[in-house]
Parts: sequence; structure tokens; C-alpha cells
Amino acid sequence: MFGTASAQPTPSRPSLVLRPFRHLLALCLFILLAHVAAEAEIRNPYATVDWQWRQHRANLHTHTTESDGQWAPDRVIDAYHELGYTILALADHNRVSYPWSRWDRNPESLGMLAVQANELSRGHHVGSYFSDLNAGRGLTDNVEEVGKAGGIAVVFHPGRYTRRDNYDVDDYVAVYQANPHAVGLEIVNQRDRYPEDRATWDAILTRLMPERPVWGFANDDFHRPQHLGRSWTMFPLPALTGCRIVVRRQ
Ligand SMILES: [Zn+2]
Repeated sequence: MFGTASAQPTPSRPSLVLRPFRHLLALCLFILLAHVAAEAEIRNPYATVDWQWRQHRANLHTHTTESDGQWAPDRVIDAYHELGYTILALADHNRVSYPWSRWDRNPESLGMLAVQANELSRGHHVGSYFSDLNAGRGLTDNVEEVGKAGGIAVVFHPGRYTRRDNYDVDDYVAVYQANPHAVGLEIVNQRDRYPEDRATWDAILTRLMPERPVWGFANDDFHRPQHLGRSWTMFPLPALTGCRIVVRRQ
């Protein structure tokens, strides 16, 4: 009744009952896979990058004696300059260590880009860039305040808070969805203090891409000399004469 009853059965063959449905099952599987392939369209976020541009080495999470770092700002600036860094953000806790002229350093003459920054350090730490904001209360509030001040935000070392305070992927997804100026997540801190941060990043991107990129950053979180030059982010840029951030609001 089912299939070819005269065929010699072998252990690897499907049961006689299933055999007539094989083509139907294969068709369903094909349709399913074709659907998944269509959903998983991959777009290259680097399509407009000219790889001939100079690649600039950056540390965007750096502490000095203006907060709990061991070295004064001028010494920190000189150390990164000597290592060949061309982009540096002094990001002291709740304190904007900027401009560098306060420590008799001229970024232009050093061939560097000085990024105005600080680390909002009440509750979940958040990197705040391009504004003089220096206070907030927690992840959502910190990120929102950065936006009101006209800056951009990078969420720092999430592993500390997923371990300690039960933050999860839903919390981060909500923050990124509501705040276009939150451009990234620190996914490597010092010599990888929170290895799970890449899995968190991956889970966030799975929810938000391709519509909403969240860029990954690697930083020294410099406090002491032994942190110098551990992790960095490269920026291919056509020029280092300034910085223009375009945030597309949905
Ligand atoms: Zn820090």
C-alpha cells in the first residue's frame, strides 16, 4: 500500500509509512530554508569604507589623577602618543578632563585627536562623548542625559552589571532602540575582564540588526601603567582634522 513494497528494506531507509511523504518533507524543508535565507540577508556595514584610509589607533576609556587613575593627564597623553595612538579620550569618572591645554598639551601638534569625554559612573557606567555632561543615575538615565546634552554614548563593560545587577539583553536592546545617540558597546575591557560581553553584544545584534547597528569597542580602561596598550579600537578615517557624528533618528 505504501511505497514500493518490493524494495529490499535496509536499516538506513525511512519507514514504509514515511516514505511517500519524503518529497513533501523535502519540499517543506526547502521552503523553510529559503525563508530563513531571505530573513538572514547580510549587509556589509563597511561597504563605504575606503581601506586605503589611514587606520587610527584609539583608546576611548582612559582615567587620570582627575579621578582614580595613577598618572596625571599630561603623562597619560604622552604615554599614548609614544605608543602611536592618534585618538584619545580622557574619560574620568563623572569629570570632563578637557581640553588638553589645561595640561599644556596641544593635540594638533601631537598629531592626535582629543575627544571630550567622561565616564558617567553612577549605577551602570556609560561613556559620554562630545559634551560637558558629568552626572547621571543609571543605565537608562545616563544614556538619556548624554542625548539631551547633544553627545553620543557607549555602554561600558556590561559584564559587570549582568553579573552583579541582573541587567540582561532586554535592558540593552531597550536602551539602544530608544536612544539613537547610543552608538556602541564596550566588548573588550583591559585584557578581557568580561569575556561574556561579546556574547551579550551578539545577542543584542541578533535582535537589532540590520536596521540598528551597535558598534563594538575595545578599551584599556586605563588606571595604572600595566593597563597601557592592552586593547584598542581602530578607526579608518579620511582625515583627523575633526569629528562629525551623524545620528539618524528614526
Ligand atoms: Zn573606567
